[in-house]
Amino acid sequence: MKLTVLGSGSSSGVPYITGEWDQCDPSDPRNRRTRASVLIESDGERIMVDTGPDFREQFLRAGSGPIDGIIYTHGHADHVHGIDDIRALNHQMQKQIPAFGYDECLTEIARRFDYVFKPPRPQFGWFKPSLGANPIENGDLKIGNAALRIFEQDHGVCRTTGIRVGDIAYSTDVVKLDAEALRALKGVKTWIVGCLRREPHQVHAGLDQVLRWADIIGPEKIYLTHMNASMDYQSLMSELPDGVEPASDGLEIQG
Ligand SMILES: [Zn+2]
Ligand SMILES: [Zn+2]
Repeated sequence: MKLTVLGSGSSSGVPYITGEWDQCDPSDPRNRRTRASVLIESDGERIMVDTGPDFREQFLRAGSGPIDGIIYTHGHADHVHGIDDIRALNHQMQKQIPAFGYDECLTEIARRFDYVFKPPRPQFGWFKPSLGANPIENGDLKIGNAALRIFEQDHGVCRTTGIRVGDIAYSTDVVKLDAEALRALKGVKTWIVGCLRREPHQVHAGLDQVLRWADIIGPEKIYLTHMNASMDYQSLMSELPDGVEPASDGLEIQG
């Protein structure tokens, strides 16, 4: 399987829309971060995780093409608001695309974008995106031939979907992990985990928290994602312990 980090940035991206790079070196291309998202390719299936505001550019960079499903980690704007661009994939594939998420996440998306889960009307040319709503719970999830495991994460204001595929797991937007989540992560070789900044934050893990989790879970490799502009790539590389690195947009991980 392959996991591609499409976006490694926090909700504002880096640089911020104001042009500020904060502590990030603007001359290092690894510091230019779009909103957090990954593409999972496993057992012949291509699965998007989230469709944030940068979805279109990210997907073009990853090679475009049909997809077999979209998992929504939660309903926040930085993970959802590129949703309208799915319509071009509907048009290309001439069918609805299944979306997976916790019930309350799909309900929130349906509230904000009330047209996306309506039955497709291809005779009108797919001018609106068309998604099938598939509520999920914790445990095993099959999308076509791909076998995934879903586990619950605490994001302070809501729960988010943790995803494990074989030896790789993706945990974005998380501030607390309970015993069940830590069990689901046990034995992963590579863990991509949200780390907004060095200091603690109300709804996101800071660096100390991530390193404490690393001691419990013991993965060979950790990639930090969902980073804001205080997280300069090269500075992090020189200060992080062995086996922990910042992710960057376009990073490909083989499992
Ligand atoms: Zn986020
Ligand atoms: Zn969030």
